[in-house]
Amino acid sequence: MSRAEHEAEGVRTLTSMEETTPIKYDPMDPFTLLCERCGYVIEGLDQDGVCPECGKPIVESLPGARIGTAWQQKQSKRNLFRTWWMMFRYPKKSIELIRFDHQKCIEQLTQTLILILLVGSVGTATTHLVRPRTDTSILNYVIGFALIFGISTIIGLFISAYSLAFSGICVLVARSFPTRFRHRINADSLWNLTAHGSFVWLSTAAIVLGGQVVERAIWIIEDPQTDYEKRILIYKSTIILERSIEIGLAVGSFLLVYFVMRNYKRCAYANRVCPQEPSDG
Ligand SMILES: [Zn+2]
Repeated sequence: MSRAEHEAEGVRTLTSMEETTPIKYDPMDPFTLLCERCGYVIEGLDQDGVCPECGKPIVESLPGARIGTAWQQKQSKRNLFRTWWMMFRYPKKSIELIRFDHQKCIEQLTQTLILILLVGSVGTATTHLVRPRTDTSILNYVIGFALIFGISTIIGLFISAYSLAFSGICVLVARSFPTRFRHRINADSLWNLTAHGSFVWLSTAAIVLGGQVVERAIWIIEDPQTDYEKRILIYKSTIILERSIEIGLAVGSFLLVYFVMRNYKRCAYANRVCPQEPSDG
């Protein structure tokens, strides 16, 4: 069979190799060029044209169009914040920019968790500085701050370990989907998606911190002279606030699953740059 006949039958030839090996078009082949919107095979079509199926410009579906988010372009704290903001504010646009072969995603995930942990611990320790109706020396304030900071950092480390493990479970579960649902998402893409979605754990820090602030506020307003029934009501409300860690974790987990699932669908046909074929010698 000649090369022209192969191509006529929808068979692709590798021109980069000395011996051309014919490979059949396979929608599940991770490197066959697909329209990123509808999944139509656009391999070999004019790059200045549009997808015959949905009209999306082909140039927007090329792997090179994924230039990477701010963090992926240059790893810095500032770019990490910029990436969080972009993911929160313009998720659809950001998802189109993500590079799924990026190798710094675990670093992105851990740095995100560490920053959120710091915000949570400093915030919690600060709220505990509020001590009305007591005469406390500066030294006691400092010791109190260090103590609460230490305790909340340890609790925060557990929360971060949970978030990290939960992200890993998300990747594993999504990986176990049957191929027809999985499309071309691989472990690298999922880790990159999860790392970009990890800013949702900010909600956990916000809920835990909010719980502390309200608890402090109740404690300040509470008058020892209030009648018994009111005191019971206040006591009950603080029990709910003590659950803020569990509530925060549940909300964070839900938001991450929502983020990954929603964007998983958006990236079903994402094209990746084909890595160099391993040579035989
Ligand atoms: Zn299309």
